[in-house]
Amino acid sequence: MAHKLVDSYREKGARKKLVQLLQERGIADENVLKAIGKVPRHYFFDETFWKQAYKDIAFPIGDGQTISQPYTVAYQTELLHIKIGDKVLEIGTGSGYQTCILVELGAQVYTIERQENLYNRTKQVLPHIGYQAEFFFGDGSKGIAKHAPYDKIIVTAGAPLVPEILLKQLKIGGILVIPVGDEESQKMITVLRVSENDFERFVLDTFRFVPLVGEKAW
Ligand code: SAH
Repeated sequence: MAHKLVDSYREKGARKKLVQLLQERGIADENVLKAIGKVPRHYFFDETFWKQAYKDIAFPIGDGQTISQPYTVAYQTELLHIKIGDKVLEIGTGSGYQTCILVELGAQVYTIERQENLYNRTKQVLPHIGYQAEFFFGDGSKGIAKHAPYDKIIVTAGAPLVPEILLKQLKIGGILVIPVGDEESQKMITVLRVSENDFERFVLDTFRFVPLVGEKAW
């Protein structure tokens, strides 16, 4: 983890290029692109690997986990249609990069991670680099009922199905974004809570996430 917080013209320039690349790859939401342009992704990397930070690739961050590919982060974030003040539940904190993008967009983020090392690390790193969120340790496949309902829920690990329990924690008009499939590949699914008992599902593109591990998952 990089502890020297240097964001020079070199990193800023690389970030601009990444934003252009994401735009070419189909990310259209100006606010999402702006957020990607702001969050210093190299802070999540050891200084030796700073050159890798602005390539559109996933990267190992230790504890057997990866920081998601920028395209994937942008894609999921776009689907959430974040409005300033939205209460967002993120399942799978990981590096915290996705968390920062949500915070940058004005969301109030509740984020949960099941790996204790990652939870401890990210809980320290984010405030250190200027991003505030509520951090929880535990199995997020059940959501966090205590703080429900949420405007938006994002799952950043692949699930075998949409956990029903998460749908119950959405506000009316709320959106869930979750990759669903087997361990090889998942389809991005969005669920809109239309009313108390009505939900609309949309099946989108194919991705490959690390598996969601938990009581309401595999
Ligand atoms: N959003 C992250 C990427 C996360 S990778 C980023 O931007 O870097 C997916 C994360 O989900 C991993 O850290 C994994 O440990 C976590 N995870 C898997 N199952 C989980 C569960 N049931 N509850 C909480 N976190 C979970």
